[in-house]
Amino acid sequence: MSFQFDMSDFSEVLVSENAIGRKLDEMAAQIRADYEGKDLLLVGVLKGAVMVMADLARRMPPAVQMDWMAVSSYGSGTKSSGVVRILKDLDADLTGRHVLIVEDIIDTGVTLSWLLGNLRSRGAASVEVASLLRKPDAAKVEVPVTYLGFDIPNQFVVGYGLDFAESYRTLPFVAVLKPEVYGDK
Ligand code: 5GP
Ligand code: MG
Ligand code: MG
Repeated sequence: MSFQFDMSDFSEVLVSENAIGRKLDEMAAQIRADYEGKDLLLVGVLKGAVMVMADLARRMPPAVQMDWMAVSSYGSGTKSSGVVRILKDLDADLTGRHVLIVEDIIDTGVTLSWLLGNLRSRGAASVEVASLLRKPDAAKVEVPVTYLGFDIPNQFVVGYGLDFAESYRTLPFVAVLKPEVYGDK
């Protein structure tokens, strides 16, 4: 394993490390204002949301809590079918809680739409969504996103939590992977 990543794997850096940091500052300021005086539970969707969760949570007051879920969407190849299975459920009881789902990216919206319905059925006081990225041209289901970082084109991106075959998650920026890179694997 080489420590250096190869910039020639990417056709374009879509969102730089600085741009991510500045956007998270804005999103966090809005979230802190909206949840002033309330106990907030951040729910991260593994594994893609790990980076955005870590960086957003560090911009919150110390009383903020984090919990995690892992879900898998059944479907052929890269297409979401809408059938979602819980691989790891939350530890927290959501009854009466203010919940903010933290996502890396909203693509078709199928997974998140299911997750919203699922969490809302658990008696939470509120359930909202924060996502760093969204691909508006890929939407199949409208998902209400209260806190959004960036709308991006309908291209396959990696970095800042997002993977290709479990690699590239640790990049500090979001980039478009060259099609010939996924052709190789
Ligand atoms: P959907 O919104 O289609 O139900 O699925 C969203 C999930 O698909 C994301 O949480 C992410 O794991 C994956 N995904 C969607 N678009 C991309 C992308 O451009 N790059 C990567 N690496 N994963 C993506
Ligand atoms: Mg995700
Ligand atoms: Mg993935």
